[in-house]
Amino acid sequence: MRIVEIFDSIQGEGRYTGYPTTFVRLAGCNLRCPWCDTKYAYDVDKFPDISPQKIAEKVKKYKQHNVAITGGEPLLKENIEELKDLVRRLYPYTISIFTNGTMDVSNLGEVRDQVSLVVDYKLKSAKPIVPFLKTNLIGLRFIDDLKFVVASMADFYEAERAIKRMYGHTMATFTMTPAYNKGFDIVLAEKIVQHRLPAVYRRQLHKDIWGEKRGV
Ligand code: SF4
Repeated sequence: MRIVEIFDSIQGEGRYTGYPTTFVRLAGCNLRCPWCDTKYAYDVDKFPDISPQKIAEKVKKYKQHNVAITGGEPLLKENIEELKDLVRRLYPYTISIFTNGTMDVSNLGEVRDQVSLVVDYKLKSAKPIVPFLKTNLIGLRFIDDLKFVVASMADFYEAERAIKRMYGHTMATFTMTPAYNKGFDIVLAEKIVQHRLPAVYRRQLHKDIWGEKRGV
């Protein structure tokens, strides 16, 4: 797998928010979101190809108990077999995988039960060039987040419609997150309450702590 970086920090999103965590960032992504904060991870040829065994060894040296695998997009087809191998090697760590929602999570096969997923639902403002994969809804569980990043009322209404459509069709936890530094934090919290949405308000904790310097 092409690895951009391995580092430790506080996990900012998902089920394990707040946990001290070692991050493994994979190179390559099939989307090009306009506000992407990891554009440097796009070019896979710039980064070393490291085996799952070596990655696991490096992760264990950090001596944390929680691992987040992020990107780019970790579930790209070319990564899947090595990614599964890495998850097996990281047992018994708690593991999160961050994905943009366009790749088939069932490709994780039997290691699916060893990880918590943070799945983005890309709104129109992200200009997704590949659509959200609806069949992913079936396999998601309450320990997985289905995440909407909201920066405007247009985003909010689109996310609200999607949540109402999907409610009852997935076990995932719907989460709504105000886009960092867009001044939408309080408005979003109020709207979730007023509209009685079955969604959790989650801030991007790492950005609250460090700003955009340590995007995870
Ligand atoms: S899915 Fe993530 S890594 Fe890919 S372009 Fe969008 S924000 Fe960037």
